[in-house]
Amino acid sequence: MTYQPNPWELEEEQWHSKINRVRAGQALKPATWPNKARCAVALSFDCDHETYELGNGGQSIGRLAWGEFGRRVGVPRILDVLKRRDVKGSFFMPAVCALIDPAETKGIALAGHEIGIHGWIHENNSVLNADTERDLILRSRDVLEKNIGERPVGFRSANWDLSPNTIAIVAEMGLEYDSSLMADEDCYEILLDGAPTGVIEVPVEWLRDDAVYLMFNREPATRPWLSPDDVFKIFKREFDAAWNMGGLFQLVMHPFIIGYRSRIWILERLIEHAQSKGNVWFGTHAEVAQWVKKEAKN
Ligand SMILES: [Zn+2]
Repeated sequence: MTYQPNPWELEEEQWHSKINRVRAGQALKPATWPNKARCAVALSFDCDHETYELGNGGQSIGRLAWGEFGRRVGVPRILDVLKRRDVKGSFFMPAVCALIDPAETKGIALAGHEIGIHGWIHENNSVLNADTERDLILRSRDVLEKNIGERPVGFRSANWDLSPNTIAIVAEMGLEYDSSLMADEDCYEILLDGAPTGVIEVPVEWLRDDAVYLMFNREPATRPWLSPDDVFKIFKREFDAAWNMGGLFQLVMHPFIIGYRSRIWILERLIEHAQSKGNVWFGTHAEVAQWVKKEAKN
């Protein structure tokens, strides 16, 4: 990301064009969800695995093993919970992860879950020029399509870093949705330079991301700062509020973070809670985007 020196010297036209490049358009909050549910739950799992390290330009054997945990232990535990509770989720998969272990991506898709684009090697999109960025997203889509036999319809940028070109590329590719922005809690249509793109945003938020609370890293020093019980409480409150307001509860988790024995219960208990509350529809991000486009878009 390039920073503007002396931003106070920007002319109105300049700051206006910056904020106007990608902006929230029409709010897409349907009156009701499938099966007349009052609340939608969209669970997502970012399978960064080894690319969490590779995409940062590192080669730490320890951190690569940490990523391996996500594949060996985290993903199977997540799939097990989803199967037991009969719920479908969205798995965002960097292309390199799909190439490291094609059977994993295929297996997730065969279990009925959605596979979404999550970059080539978990690269930071905000530092790429338009040609490189387009090339990487297209190649990522092709790797996933070849693997699962079906073209992915959604994109989430690694670390939610977008360049001014990302949404233009997503729209140009005809993808149905992006899930990297946070201008709302419910879905909206993305505007590019003020014009509707037809691309639906399924919004994320750091507060609905397990990594924010539970990640440990020596460098940069990052330590879990909440107990699993507290993380559960935050997610549950987000869900309860979405249920009360009749909206969308969207959540981001990582197999190498949520997949541990002392944490995986958070996912299962949340699903149980939502199911016992009733009047809830569980959808993949693609299904959510398709539903709001059909039901709420003018
Ligand atoms: Zn990621």
